[in-house]
Amino acid sequence: MSDLKKVMLTFDPMISSKKPNDVVGESSCPFCSYTDMENLIKEDGSRLWVNNKYPTIKEVNQTVIIESDAHDFRMYEAESCELNQLFKFIMSCWRQFDEWPSNLQTVFLKNQGIHSGSSLNHPHLQLLGFKEDVGSLYMPSDFEGIVVKETDQLFITVSTQPICGYIELNLRVHQDAAINSWTNDLMGLVRFAVGYRDPSHPSYNIFGWKIDEYYQFKVVPRFVTSAYYIGFRLSQVFSTDQLIQIAEDLKLNYLSS
Ligand SMILES: [Zn+2]
Repeated sequence: MSDLKKVMLTFDPMISSKKPNDVVGESSCPFCSYTDMENLIKEDGSRLWVNNKYPTIKEVNQTVIIESDAHDFRMYEAESCELNQLFKFIMSCWRQFDEWPSNLQTVFLKNQGIHSGSSLNHPHLQLLGFKEDVGSLYMPSDFEGIVVKETDQLFITVSTQPICGYIELNLRVHQDAAINSWTNDLMGLVRFAVGYRDPSHPSYNIFGWKIDEYYQFKVVPRFVTSAYYIGFRLSQVFSTDQLIQIAEDLKLNYLSS
């Protein structure tokens, strides 16, 4: 038996039970007209970075970026100009969040859609800071795979060793790269994920890590999680031929040339 103790996060069901939910519940949207200004950390027009009013996990500083005051805004449908403004704001918040003394490490998390773990439809994402040592939150192999695009500052792959499976799309960008040099490609990966299996119920996650001088993102189309993974920690991946086809499709139809 291993002596290594598994890292666990402490979930508070009492706080969770108070959370609004308009994905599977019937709550009204708290982000359409945001009023809890005591939680505001930073703002840029209608974009707000706020402390999560319902911090369900004890070991984590949970913050939320409300991307727009428009309930139906979807970042992957936004014009380049608006998208770049949004990511300029997100990345400046993230850099600021990294400086919080209580954060040992920080990550980016976006949930959208019924299978993604999201409780609110309003466009938002989370910046999470771990107050306790939870070990490394990635392995280098999580981002390795079929290379889709490679430039001086940008590196995009389709995972050959996905964390959970089946399709995981990875984008790594240098911290000094201009925002408009990579956000359209990131949204290309999201559009692929959104249209992948059930476009009428699009569900996806974007995960983000700061690793040395790079930002690493992972875009994952979400379905019901495989029982192989839940019970046996076994991940599934498509055949190499199928992954190469996906890489070609991404190059041809979703990414800038
Ligand atoms: Zn709303």
